[in-house]
Amino acid sequence: MKGKRIFNSASVPSEKCIFCRIVRGELPSNRVYEDEDYIAFLDINPYSKGHTLVCPKRHGETLWDMGEDEIGGLFAAASKVSRAIVEATGSDGFRILQNNGEAANQVVGHVHVHVIPVTMENKSRFMSRMSVSASEMTALAKSIWESVG
Ligand code: 5GP
Ligand code: ZN
Repeated sequence: MKGKRIFNSASVPSEKCIFCRIVRGELPSNRVYEDEDYIAFLDINPYSKGHTLVCPKRHGETLWDMGEDEIGGLFAAASKVSRAIVEATGSDGFRILQNNGEAANQVVGHVHVHVIPVTMENKSRFMSRMSVSASEMTALAKSIWESVG
């Protein structure tokens, strides 16, 4: 489908994109999964311990910049990683969130799927950002990496 673009002030070319820079190894990240086409790493400012971002390695801003096979692969990777996250964190379920455009509060202009583990204990609580120490982030990433099949 052609025509309307989604407005996004976070729009950047690949050279300046922070997630492309993570893919290229120019910026550090707590990686939990990687294959030829996709990468997953812990969110720097998580909603819960284990909150992960799954991205295509190829730069594109929104889902509309991706082919259907690529979208399928992205969500398959997110599903695969979700099992390891839930196992490693001892959570009871997970949320998938995927923002497209300014109005959706997309702040990084590179397609990504949030996988946010949740527990029964926090079932009806409002999600808010939390701080997790660097050492705990490293340990979490290692344990998720080891749990991915
Ligand atoms: P969005 O609102 O665009 O869907 O979410 C972008 C997410 O990326 C936010 O949850 C934010 O905390 C996370 N984020 C922003 N910059 C970085 C970074 O440099 N590294 C990591 N790991 N996450 C980031
Ligand atoms: Zn990018």
